[in-house]
Amino acid sequence: MSVPPYHPAGSSPARIDLHAHSTASDGTLTPSDLVVAAVDAGLDVVAITDHDTTAGWAPAVAARPAGLTLVRGAELSCRWYGVEPSISLHLLAYLFDPTEPSLVAELARLRAARELRAERIVDRLRADGVDVTWDEVLRYAAGGSVGRPHIAQALIRAGLVATTTEAFAPHWLGDRYRLPKDDMDVFTAVRLVRAAGGVPVFAHPRASRRGRVVPDAVIVELAAVGLFGLEADHEDHSPDERAHVRALAAELGLVVTGSSDFHGTNKTVRLGAHTTAPEVYERIVAAASGVPAV
Ligand code: AMP
Ligand code: FE
Ligand code: FE
Ligand code: ZN
Repeated sequence: MSVPPYHPAGSSPARIDLHAHSTASDGTLTPSDLVVAAVDAGLDVVAITDHDTTAGWAPAVAARPAGLTLVRGAELSCRWYGVEPSISLHLLAYLFDPTEPSLVAELARLRAARELRAERIVDRLRADGVDVTWDEVLRYAAGGSVGRPHIAQALIRAGLVATTTEAFAPHWLGDRYRLPKDDMDVFTAVRLVRAAGGVPVFAHPRASRRGRVVPDAVIVELAAVGLFGLEADHEDHSPDERAHVRALAAELGLVVTGSSDFHGTNKTVRLGAHTTAPEVYERIVAAASGVPAV
């Protein structure tokens, strides 16, 4: 698939951020505000990668300012079942065919699992006398993929925490009220994304501060079934973790990306805080056959 002209010849290197969330999941900017914010942040390319949904694609395409290239993607909730208890992980998927039936079905199942889990978390909070309601959480999710940040908003509204970060402390959503959800086997996910013409990149693979991470041996096996890249430059990676991810990618012939994982005011990171090299972006686009970058 050809690469659209995403920055004028002779200008400074393109600024490319391949991981951003909108109100279609747990970001706070609408898809149309996100593409405008991308231009304001000086980006030439932005990817919309909401959790388990493509619902933000159409409004983002419709609002895309001239001069900005939009990469349509998603961040899939996955799990590695090689240990007990299994480990959750996130797979970025770029430029896949959003009508591919198995992938469509899996995304719907993942969103339903998110609702179920969030409702159980709310039940548990309420059982402990915490004044949050399922109705308000659904309202904060505004029809998008429900996630813990929406429950965090309820905790903030109830005056129990001041920020989303505080809501993710161990005694709240970080551990005590963290329940597992029914995710997708990561090997199945990589194959499904590829079958839909998409390009799978492992999001923040070493972000140990979020919980347990999968061993490198799993990444070696994922590369063998079609994983295309690893996200190295990410807010949740220490310098050592970034270096480790780069070395592993080099060893396996995977590309490395950098991205903000922007969530609007649900996180402190700014759009474009980390970026991906133009050569890597071009390889991702060239490897995709689902939908074009626009
Ligand atoms: P969930 O997808 O429902 O499991 O919730 C995970 C989401 O919560 C991530 O995608 C982030 O958007 C957000 N998140 C995770 N950890 C934190 C944190 N420490 N502070 C703020 N947001 C977080
Ligand atoms: Fe998120
Ligand atoms: Fe993630
Ligand atoms: Zn993300």
